[in-house]
Amino acid sequence: MPYKVIEDRPADVRERIFLPEVIRGVGIIARQFLRNFFLQRDPNPDHLLRRTPGVTIQYPEEKQPYPPGYRGLHRLVPREDGRPRCVACYMCATICPAQCIYIEAGEVEGDPIEKFPSRFVIDELRCVVCGFCVEACPKDAIRMDTGEHAPPTYTRAAQVLDEKVLLRGAPVSYLGDPWLKRPAPGIPAAKLEEMRSRARPYPQLAGDEYSQTPGFSVRQLAAEAKARGGA
Ligand code: SF4
Ligand code: SF4
Repeated sequence: MPYKVIEDRPADVRERIFLPEVIRGVGIIARQFLRNFFLQRDPNPDHLLRRTPGVTIQYPEEKQPYPPGYRGLHRLVPREDGRPRCVACYMCATICPAQCIYIEAGEVEGDPIEKFPSRFVIDELRCVVCGFCVEACPKDAIRMDTGEHAPPTYTRAAQVLDEKVLLRGAPVSYLGDPWLKRPAPGIPAAKLEEMRSRARPYPQLAGDEYSQTPGFSVRQLAAEAKARGGA
């Protein structure tokens, strides 16, 4: 349906004098300010929990936690032994519409099958935050559940994150992980048993908290920061 074009009528006398319109505008702003300050609370439960009243966030002293499904900065999910879950299959780099993921595959020493990313680089400035890489990953090895946005930097190069920066957060083990099923070089037997005991079924659904690592909750971290009085 075409947009309705409203003819621009000429200004009337009152508008040409200008002062009455200025007074009217100041009145609207003052009314809204007083209502926000003294009366109205934003019904959003996250807002109601805040220490300060009203809808204004005193950023950066006060920060609003992002919702659980928020696509934050990437992280490479570690295994329980600290290595990346990533097997350097290139699926994330292939699907990435911004072509901002670069991977070099290395062979795991002593294992004829297993690969790992000897280089894994993401240019967060080129990333369009679509989440395709997370969806495409068959190993749940890359996530955007850090709850952080890309920090401001002085150079573009500082937005290029490599595997040393990306590998962080809570580790994850699934029952189907191949390194838990067959002899895994480099993992001590006791550690391997511990990893097996923590392993859980691969999720059939991906959605909000369910797809997040147990014990790694954006909301919980934000609540702890709030309790510390910092954020
Ligand atoms: S979120 Fe999208 S654009 Fe960003 S790295 Fe992943 S696939 Fe590429
Ligand atoms: S992060 Fe996932 S999709 Fe990307 S290379 Fe590693 S295993 Fe493959």
